[in-house]
Amino acid sequence: MTEHPLKVAIIGAGMGGLFMAEQLRVAGIDYTIFEKAPEVGGTWQANTYPGLFVDVLTRSYEFPFARHHGWSRRYAAGSEIQDYLVRVSRTRGFRQHIRFNTEIVEATFNDAGWDLIANDGGRHRADVVIAATGFLRVPSIPDLPGRESFAGPAFHSSAWDHSADLEGKRIGVIGTGSSGVQIVTELGKRGHDVTQFVRTPQWMMVRENPKISLIERLLLAIPGTAKMMDARMMKMRRKIEGPDTWRFRPGPDRDRVREQYAIELEKALPDPTLRAKLTPTEPAGCKRIAKTQHYYDVVQQPNVSIVAGGVSRLEPEGIVDSNGQFHPIDVLIYATGFDSHAYMRPMKVTGAGGHSIEEIWRGGVVGYKGVGIPHMPNFFMLNGPFAPVNLIPPPAGMQDQAVLIMRLIEMARRDHVAIAPTDAATRHFCDEVRAEVPNTTFGDCDNWFTDKSGTPIVWPWNRTEHARRLAEFDMSDFEIFWPSARKEAEYRGELVSGASS
Ligand code: NAP
Repeated sequence: MTEHPLKVAIIGAGMGGLFMAEQLRVAGIDYTIFEKAPEVGGTWQANTYPGLFVDVLTRSYEFPFARHHGWSRRYAAGSEIQDYLVRVSRTRGFRQHIRFNTEIVEATFNDAGWDLIANDGGRHRADVVIAATGFLRVPSIPDLPGRESFAGPAFHSSAWDHSADLEGKRIGVIGTGSSGVQIVTELGKRGHDVTQFVRTPQWMMVRENPKISLIERLLLAIPGTAKMMDARMMKMRRKIEGPDTWRFRPGPDRDRVREQYAIELEKALPDPTLRAKLTPTEPAGCKRIAKTQHYYDVVQQPNVSIVAGGVSRLEPEGIVDSNGQFHPIDVLIYATGFDSHAYMRPMKVTGAGGHSIEEIWRGGVVGYKGVGIPHMPNFFMLNGPFAPVNLIPPPAGMQDQAVLIMRLIEMARRDHVAIAPTDAATRHFCDEVRAEVPNTTFGDCDNWFTDKSGTPIVWPWNRTEHARRLAEFDMSDFEIFWPSARKEAEYRGELVSGASS
């Protein structure tokens, strides 16, 4: 059979989009990346707030196909990650495939392929769509009473207003997630007058972020040595942090982890009043644990205040907290997180039989192993619903997902068909997740993995299980869609779409 010259549309030139570009480049498959921003990088392009750094070891944040030895610190600054992604896009030749400033607003499945409409009205056709749109992309700004009345600059952590003058200003930060913690730490260190509004204190991991010396960098450039150094680092980390099993099974390990964090907190914050404000009541590991070197030091400085409880309302000159106390604020920063269940939306996606994403997800988000959606043939996602985004460094998770996606794409190319997970396989997978989640820490409190109905949309197994479940699948989990020009009956005999199990 002649191989079908497949065309793939990748939506998003963040880490996921670039990762898939490399897989397609290696496979010799034609692709175009549509990116709404003027540059690659996704979340690293959008987030430019002061104090941004990657909170997993930077060495595990690199693409396996573009190792980098020049990181300045163990946890690199956001701007370094962004520079790295831009560099990779250049050196791997991705840029000539990218249409910048182009947002796909509509994708419609039609005759075993996809019709795409861009925001500039441009129309495109692709056999396969890969939504690499990220999950921490759509800012969530609470609709607080009086929000519009606030007189000063107010912006979300992911849309930092660099024109806002912070000098001598009273800065309010709402939120205590990883973004809020990093912002308060940096602004506090710079000596700004900062008030952080902490509705729910969260557990923190206090970790050093040492510089990587020139000698270390030179050693990292030698592949064999780099492997040894990485292994040593991982061993050291496991020794400090212990095995990850406590997240997946209740038991004494979980209690021990909580105790360890509580001891760290007590040591870090001797003042009982301040400590009480920042002592979490929720189980450790339910919200993503923020990593920090200096947060606890900074919140003890006289220029930083912690206000416990929520925000009751905004007024032109400041914030009224949940106890009714007014705090004068000149500049307001919403570190209030993201609509992590927006996925590829607001893009309008209509699959086979006219089924839309909105309709399929009406009763709650469903997905197959984080990469597929029923009735959406040849529509794959990087880090879609139930992907291990809370758990596994992105490149490792993407690597596993790419294995499954690329095998399906290769089948689509070979057999000129479109492939989607069946309703039954998707339901079965989601049921398995639901059965497992109660064993994990992830369902123990409200967090950004949890959807509006209270269901954590999360991968409930460990990293090994992620690799295994994505590498092993049964073809009966998938439904095949034939283009109208090729009748299913005459084609069936030729189809040899075998997959491993
Ligand atoms: P987040 O973890 O969802 O935190 C949002 C914060 O805003 C929470 O403290 C939340 O309080 C608070 N909040 C929301 N609405 C509020 C309201 N009406 N009043 C008062 N407080 C309100 O968001 P994030 O900090 O942006 O982090 C999201 C994820 O992004 C992280 O978990 C991490 O995965 C990733 N991230 C990574 C890095 C990195 O690697 N460098 C940096 C930043 C973020 P409640 O808890 O009470 O809802």
